[in-house]
Amino acid sequence: MRQWANLGYPRRALWLHRAAVEITERHAGEVPDDVDALLALSGVGDYAARAVAVFSFGERHPVVDTNTRRVLARTLAGRAQPGPPSRRDLDAMDAILPTADADAAVVNAAAMELGATLCAARAPRCEPCPLQDRCAWRAAGYPDTGDTRRRKARYEGSDRQARGAVLRVLRNAAPDPVVRSAVLTAWPDAAQLERAIASLLADGLVERDGGALRLPH
Ligand code: SF4
Repeated sequence: MRQWANLGYPRRALWLHRAAVEITERHAGEVPDDVDALLALSGVGDYAARAVAVFSFGERHPVVDTNTRRVLARTLAGRAQPGPPSRRDLDAMDAILPTADADAAVVNAAAMELGATLCAARAPRCEPCPLQDRCAWRAAGYPDTGDTRRRKARYEGSDRQARGAVLRVLRNAAPDPVVRSAVLTAWPDAAQLERAIASLLADGLVERDGGALRLPH
């Protein structure tokens, strides 16, 4: 937790540690190559499990990130933006992957790169796009098909920011605990601070030490 510092989403630090312990205990210290075994590790979701299986172990699976989902929505479904993530994204990608493992890995990577570089969420650059003649959205004249993506919540003043303020106080004092009254100076909104502390305790990112709080050992 101390090393993770301001890298964001501190739960990932816990998950990373838990996954390392699980790999040691269940897989003799070797990262498994099987998607189901990878999915069973703490903090590993659809994207990470398949990305490891494909790019580290050379297996054939669909790897779908936000950029890929946008490319699939435009080229195959003629939609400006993808809908909410679903199993259908994996099925759609699987259906267009070449049979050979190595070729499938290239197509997975290419779709992600295309979405990251040319097929941007706003103002896609279609002229140099290798899919311009096969893109359903472009062929339809770029219709406005709506946008159901969830908006990112503001960070300033959010509970997330309050959680970050609490963790900063505890990180600066670690490994020592911090008395609760000192933690309460970390954030101006007392109710929000209590909410932040409660959620950090529930997530295992903070532990009680008598009447004080500290980072987990
Ligand atoms: S032609 Fe344009 S909209 Fe279609 S995939 Fe390429 S960059 Fe995206």
